[in-house]
Amino acid sequence: MRDVLTRLGLGTTNPGAWAGHALSGAHDGSIDSVDPSDNSVLGSVQLATLDQYENVVSEAARAFKEWRMLPAPHRGEIVRQMGDALRANKVDLGALESLEVGKIRAEGQGEVQESIDIADFSVGLSRQLYGLSMHSERARHRMYEQWHPLGVVGVITAFNFPNAVWAWNAMIAAVCGDTVVWKPSLKAPLTAIATHKICQAVLEKNGWNGVFGLVIGRDATVGEAMLRDPRIPLVSATGSTRMGRHVGSVVAQRFGRTLLELGGNNAIIVEPDADLNLAVRGITFGAVGTAGQRCTTTRRLLVNRRIAGELVPRLVAAWKQCRIGHPLEEGTLVGPLIDADAVASFEHAVAEAVAQGGEILVGGRRVQRPGNYVEPTIIRANPGMAVCREETFAPILYVMEYDTLQEAIDIQNDVPQGLSSSIFTDSFRSAETFLSHAGSDCGIANVNIGTSGAEIGGAFGGEKETGGGRESGSDSWKAYMRRQTNTLNWGTDLPMAQGITFTV
Ligand code: NAD
Repeated sequence: MRDVLTRLGLGTTNPGAWAGHALSGAHDGSIDSVDPSDNSVLGSVQLATLDQYENVVSEAARAFKEWRMLPAPHRGEIVRQMGDALRANKVDLGALESLEVGKIRAEGQGEVQESIDIADFSVGLSRQLYGLSMHSERARHRMYEQWHPLGVVGVITAFNFPNAVWAWNAMIAAVCGDTVVWKPSLKAPLTAIATHKICQAVLEKNGWNGVFGLVIGRDATVGEAMLRDPRIPLVSATGSTRMGRHVGSVVAQRFGRTLLELGGNNAIIVEPDADLNLAVRGITFGAVGTAGQRCTTTRRLLVNRRIAGELVPRLVAAWKQCRIGHPLEEGTLVGPLIDADAVASFEHAVAEAVAQGGEILVGGRRVQRPGNYVEPTIIRANPGMAVCREETFAPILYVMEYDTLQEAIDIQNDVPQGLSSSIFTDSFRSAETFLSHAGSDCGIANVNIGTSGAEIGGAFGGEKETGGGRESGSDSWKAYMRRQTNTLNWGTDLPMAQGITFTV
């Protein structure tokens, strides 16, 4: 299983600072990359020093001056080649994710597919970085806006999407003319190194260095340096709300921009007229997939009281069938949590839920085997329970009953987070109510599909404590560029706007 490490060029000790090539020399200690299925060590990574961080950012700033002048479709052509390189390595990279963060095989490969998809999307985008043109109120004047690259973009990623979240940012930033410095999670450093090396090889083949850099280092040193670095006009950060609150305020102090993709507390509403076959599948994948470690994981189920007696036992039965096992074993649906701390958070949340009046319907315990496995869990709850308002990164579904759709929407919206939401219904009116201005307050609102598994074509992100950022498709690229309004006078007069006269 571990031969993928060799095939992806990873050693037992790996450098953590990359400015195109690996930076050798001093390091700030090292960390182990740990396989969550048995807590054995996969390899170690030397942490970047502040000097190395300096080196990587200087190189990215130098490269930006040239990269921004390469026509966008040419940048797109290089990104196209990166998509192909990721395609060629999809199976190995996916397997590496299974080893490093415990995703089951299909989900590890699915994540790499997302990176390939965003590369394809970015290639097309490289010919579509459109600005508007406007009609000037002044005679013989032309007014339009154009989009310029921003500079060096800092990308901070969470452990649970160790490949795609970087690609969402980096592929789009690259066609926009930016260079990128990546600070990945210390829980998934090998996936970051392997991904960087694959894309760097393409850049090098095309004669480019410094367009993508990688620094694997401590939050308190290189992380903080990135937040405070005036050479980095945009920091795109994915992770917990706690992290985002800090990143947002520090970067704002220097008037830098942030793109924040933070925690979710996503709900599915099931109406009495729903197709329950669809609902059972959508809820199960949403709540149990990736062992509950997606930002879009379904954490709350709001079921109409009239059908709760039918739906909930079906879910309990489905939960019991979910096979827990090694992520690369055929037939496994639920892999391990990322580490022992995540297991402790799971146990704490279950205990809290019971203390607050919840009733465990299935699951609720850690699994007695090596590694960080827990049972997918359903807890009968009520909206007043404090634990239901928090994001616990584990497979726990809180089930609550309601009487009217309005009541369900109110419960759904009454949490601090606002990422993803769904309704299962066959009623056009209920679906439209859910999607209306008075409906879901989330960045993502679905009908008859679950809360997780977004496609890259749409803008991805959420409201409230989810941070307000939008990444991936649609017009999210605008976050990676600066807008400039240009007015050109081709006449012989100098008329003022608003009819002002000013004669000298
Ligand atoms: P985390 O907040 O612990 O860490 C995320 C990243 O932030 C890591 O790279 C970490 O090193 C970095 N970081 C932390 N403090 C920092 C600092 N002071 N300076 C610079 N960097 C710092 O999150 P996690 O446990 O890795 O991931 C799980 C969380 O991520 C969940 O809350 C999940 O909902 C969220 N998430 C959100 C999205 C989204 O798109 N909304 C996607 C994936 C994950």
